[in-house]
Amino acid sequence: MGRIVLDQVTKSFGDVTVIPPLDLTIEDGEFAVFVGPSGCGKSTLLRLIAGLEDVTSGAIRIDGEDATSISPAKRGLAMVFQSYALYPHMSVRKNIAFPLRMAGMDKAEQDRRVDLAASVLNLTDYLDRRPGQLSGGQRQRVAIGRAIVREPAAFLFDEPLSNLDAALRVGMRLEISELHKRLKTTMIYVTHDQVEAMTMADKIVVLRAGFIEQVGSPLDLYHAPRNLFVAGFIGSPK
Ligand code: ADP
Ligand code: MG
Repeated sequence: MGRIVLDQVTKSFGDVTVIPPLDLTIEDGEFAVFVGPSGCGKSTLLRLIAGLEDVTSGAIRIDGEDATSISPAKRGLAMVFQSYALYPHMSVRKNIAFPLRMAGMDKAEQDRRVDLAASVLNLTDYLDRRPGQLSGGQRQRVAIGRAIVREPAAFLFDEPLSNLDAALRVGMRLEISELHKRLKTTMIYVTHDQVEAMTMADKIVVLRAGFIEQVGSPLDLYHAPRNLFVAGFIGSPK
């Protein structure tokens, strides 16, 4: 399960309001993409959902339960950080198992989950290597593996491909879409790249200065952008 509801959520830093009251529902199993220009609040919104930031007001519900004051670890969501967050001195297996080891899970169950994640991600032959001995794409997969083993209700990605070169980005985009098809788990994916948004999303949320300009499928937004901002961002002909 992984239905996420934001109910009149706001966020201010000091007296600067970054997110004015915002309502949004992400359905279980949906691939939702947050797009918008730099500084519009995409990362803040994701961090609020993850619990890495506290809301200033409003509520966040996950599968019907009020998660607003629940710690990040207990929300059952997994934030996928860029490959640079890997531990260079640990093997791939240890990197992937890291959250399970921290949670004190028994070794046999850790190994079972790591082996499963590695097979989904084509990393089985690389489990004994160090991150430094992997390609950029493989390192990114290790970061995703570390999220998969927690069997989260949803995956949260914050511009996970922005440090990869263009060719690799295309490959990883396809891999993440494929992963979503296989796992059928809710994914929220932040990007400022409209090609990623248009090709990956079930639902696109277009943000400007903390406001939602429009929510819809890629086709909805392409054929019926609500205004010139959305049209310009999506590259549609309005
Ligand atoms: P995006 O991810 O869309 O580029 P962010 O969510 O990072 O945007 O930032 C949205 C706005 O909130 C920006 O104006 C940014 O400067 C501000 N902001 C983000 N985090 C903080 C913080 N910890 N303290 C103060 N302002 C912040
Ligand atoms: Mg950001």
